[in-house]
Amino acid sequence: MKRKIISILLTLAAIIIWILVVQSRMSRLDLGQPEQTRTKSPTNDISLSQTPMSPAESGQSSEADAQHPNANGQESDGASNAGSDPDDDPDADPNASPGASDIEGLNGPNGPNDPNDPQNQQPSTLPPANDLTETLTIELSNGASTTTLLDRSYTTKKTVEAGSTLKINAPEIIHALYIIWDLPPGEWFISGEPSQSCGNNGFIHEYIALSSPSTEITMQFPNTDSTICDVYAFTEGAAPQWVQTWEQPCAKADLLLLPTHADDEHLYFAGIMPYYAGELGYRVQVAYLTNHWNEPPRPHELLNGLWTVGIRYYPIIGGFNDRYAESLSEAQSMYGLDNVVSYQVDLLRRFKPEVVVGHDVNGEYGHGVHMLNAYALQIAVEEADDAAKYPASATKYGTWDTPKLYLHLYPDNAITLDWNMPLSNFGGATAYDMAVAGYACHISQQQWAFAVPQNGPTGHKFGLVRSTVGPDIIGGDLFENISR
Ligand SMILES: [Zn+2]
Repeated sequence: MKRKIISILLTLAAIIIWILVVQSRMSRLDLGQPEQTRTKSPTNDISLSQTPMSPAESGQSSEADAQHPNANGQESDGASNAGSDPDDDPDADPNASPGASDIEGLNGPNGPNDPNDPQNQQPSTLPPANDLTETLTIELSNGASTTTLLDRSYTTKKTVEAGSTLKINAPEIIHALYIIWDLPPGEWFISGEPSQSCGNNGFIHEYIALSSPSTEITMQFPNTDSTICDVYAFTEGAAPQWVQTWEQPCAKADLLLLPTHADDEHLYFAGIMPYYAGELGYRVQVAYLTNHWNEPPRPHELLNGLWTVGIRYYPIIGGFNDRYAESLSEAQSMYGLDNVVSYQVDLLRRFKPEVVVGHDVNGEYGHGVHMLNAYALQIAVEEADDAAKYPASATKYGTWDTPKLYLHLYPDNAITLDWNMPLSNFGGATAYDMAVAGYACHISQQQWAFAVPQNGPTGHKFGLVRSTVGPDIIGGDLFENISR
């Protein structure tokens, strides 16, 4: 009798196990792609942003991270600044979808964000480099633990003190390093004869092609404390697409875009960056009014978003700390109108753009600092052409008479831009798709109701506030009447 009961129980257990296995297979099939591919998709990463992972969990998902280290911003940072971001609409619905489904097609195999698609590799005749990061050992001269430097998560970081060194060893020759800094680093060096000077451009995502490739690299920090989030290393060859090989801010811009905060560039200017920079190859310089240095991981999200939509010139990030203002006058009393105009005059004279694009004078949704950015810009374009105004910058850069200034949603001389055309440089995705993909990089901001709308005025309608080249007749192009 006992044996019979045991036999029945074993049969039942076998049936339950079989049901579980079949269910698991079914749910995988529902996704329409093999499990491994899905793990690699940043769409998957974005959907996870609704439920932040711990850094420890992230460390286990090495496959996904290996392909998309940028996606690590989904982890909740100890400071958890996103929720208190003054740029966010306090009435926003925190359960709103970030629109991840809209960009699914972009991130899958052969989508424009798929790093395995050769079309998305850095344009280079070199064969692709191998990622050596998994094989590295890192030693800090003071003996402190360095494990967080290899976890592919920019939410974990390690401060290396001035005077210390960091030794990196790999089984193969390292030809390039990719360092993710917490804040812009000071000058640092790679040992050698002669040593290689790095960190001078202030990039927080810094790619270094080594002047002396080796299996052992020593980073030296003689002058300042530096905080490192991540270290990656590569063999000889073209860096993978997700590695951001930034160029210096451009010497002369075709288009200067002036968002106020990280994420405004996608939300309110939508297809401008993917279309003009990514597709047409115009020199587009982005310059933010405020910074988020006190709001990690937003500076990383900012760079990830710009890189995704095809910006290659490192952005200018203003010295104004991000604060919320209810009105233009409140924003003026916070920052000072003259300080903002001075900053913008400098930008106009330095980059000498043919076209300048700024915010809605009504602050997009009533944000006083957006209003201040737009209000000051209308003064700055006039004063940039007057050598008597801000004479130090006139001496440094010369004056500049901006040919065209557009403001978002400005009612006069309005044009509508079409962001629904497929872009060949993004594998057929539209400029709108890419704006959504860029905004999706702002993972800490996805809890709010903001989204890049498919239709309607946001990111599509701009008014010509100032023109030295005549009015727009045809419309639909910010560069009408500008010859390149
Ligand atoms: Zn904003």
